[in-house]
Amino acid sequence: MSDPRRERRKVLVIEDEQDIRELLKVTLEGEGLQVLLAGDGELGLALARRERPALVILDLMLPGIGGLEVCRRIRSEESMARVPILILSARSGEPDKVVGLELGADDYVTKPFSPREVVARVRALLRRAWGDPGEAPSEHYERGNIKIDFDAYEVLISGQRMEFSLREFELLKFFVTHPNRVYERGQLLELVWGPDTFVEPRTVDVHVRRLRRRIEKDDANPELIVTVRGVGYMFDERKLDAS
Ligand code: CA
Repeated sequence: MSDPRRERRKVLVIEDEQDIRELLKVTLEGEGLQVLLAGDGELGLALARRERPALVILDLMLPGIGGLEVCRRIRSEESMARVPILILSARSGEPDKVVGLELGADDYVTKPFSPREVVARVRALLRRAWGDPGEAPSEHYERGNIKIDFDAYEVLISGQRMEFSLREFELLKFFVTHPNRVYERGQLLELVWGPDTFVEPRTVDVHVRRLRRRIEKDDANPELIVTVRGVGYMFDERKLDAS
C-alpha cells in the first residue's frame, strides 16, 4: 500500500509551455508537493491514469487533445472522476474557462498568474477534496528561540517582540516554512516578491541582512540564514535546536 498522505501531495501539471511548467514545478515543490509534468494532453491523461495525482493543473490551450477534452475524459473515468482540476486559462474573458467549469473543473487561474495565487488555489482544492492532510502551513511557528504568529504578523525572538516590514516578515516566513534548503536569489524574488517584481536580486541581500540583525545571535557570523557561496541562502533550522 502506498502512503495516502504522500499520494495526496502529488500534483500533475499538464501544460505545453515549458517556462510555465518549470515555474509551477519550482513553486509547488517549494510547498512540499510532488510534481509530475506533462507537455501535452495525451501524456497528461496517461500520467493521470497511472499516477493517480491528488490534483491536476490543466492548461486549456494544448496541442493535440485540448484541455477541455482532457478535462471531460478525466471526469468520465471512474478512477479519476474525483480528482480536483485547476484550469489555467489565457485570458480572463475566455469562454473556454466557463465551459471547463461546466465540464467539471473545480477552479481556474488566469495567465499571467502569480505563483502564490496558484499555491493558494492548490491548497484550497486539496483541502476541499481530501481533507486537511496535516501539511497545510501552520498558523504558528515555534522552534528554538523563534516564535511567529503568521496571522498576527508577530515575531518573538527569545521572548522579545521584533518589528519587521511586511516583506521582511514574508521572507522570514518563507525561510522558516522552507528550512534546510538552498534558494537562489532569483527563486526567492519570485516566491516572496512575486513573478512580476522589478526589484534587483541584491534586494534579497538587503532583506537578509535586516533579518539577520534581528534573529541571529551574531549577525556578522550568521548561523540561521546561511549564505551558500555562489548559490543563495538557506535557513538552517537545525541550528535552532542547538541554541
Ligand atoms: Ca498552452
